[in-house]
Amino acid sequence: MKILITGANRGLGLEFTKQYLVQGHNVIACYRKDKGRLEQLANFDARLRIIQLDISDGDSPGILSEALGGSCDLFINNAGIYPRADLSQTTDAQNAWLQGMLVNCISPVIASFQLASSMTKNGKIVFISSKMGSIEDNTSGGSYLYRSSKAALNAAVKSLAIDLEPNGIAVLILHPGWVKTDMGGPNALIDAQTSVANMIKRIEELNLKNTGRFLTYDGEEVPW
Ligand code: NAP
Repeated sequence: MKILITGANRGLGLEFTKQYLVQGHNVIACYRKDKGRLEQLANFDARLRIIQLDISDGDSPGILSEALGGSCDLFINNAGIYPRADLSQTTDAQNAWLQGMLVNCISPVIASFQLASSMTKNGKIVFISSKMGSIEDNTSGGSYLYRSSKAALNAAVKSLAIDLEPNGIAVLILHPGWVKTDMGGPNALIDAQTSVANMIKRIEELNLKNTGRFLTYDGEEVPW
């Protein structure tokens, strides 16, 4: 398979890259600024290509399309941020909220919409969302910016799944668990290896009959 992964220089994106390379796939891994471990990995494995990509840049769909050079079997929209703001500071809060929406929802959905025509038949598009985007699951409040950006992502991706089904493209929204990464922090419940190994199983199970679902890494349905 030819696999495209955003936000792959650290955390879950890097772990997806490593595990898919071990499985023998070709990976195009994106980094925003720092290559991190990707450069070292690419020196040892010719199946890994690394490209610089800020998903929030207006030309990101074009950069991805050019990097693919024609086709893609699996596109993993992994890049994300956890925006924070003091809502009593209007302008700062507005800017942080808009950036959160741009990175976590608007940009990955636009890139996926535009790249869909490059996907192979039976291609798959995956979005790493969060249970924190579930409205029903929200019992603790707070995290206005992050929660709303992931809820918006889920809503848009549901439409994408319906719209891409006639084209033979299956779409999945995943909650990775609370994972020990820079974002998840050291107190998180699971490591990146466990999360990604399980998410890869969910991606393998994805097909046109079960497209458009929101699942945890271990296969539980998440309420919208
Ligand atoms: P992480 O360790 O903070 O890594 C985030 C990755 O996204 C980094 O590679 C980062 O690149 C990249 N990124 C951020 N903004 C970007 C942009 N504008 N363009 C391109 N890349 C960008 O986070 P993680 O834990 O691996 O999270 C991966 C995904 O899982 C995210 O979507 C997150 O919301 C979701 N998630 C994580 C958890 C958890 O517990 N860890 C739970 C639920 C959901 P830089 O290094 O350049 O910043």
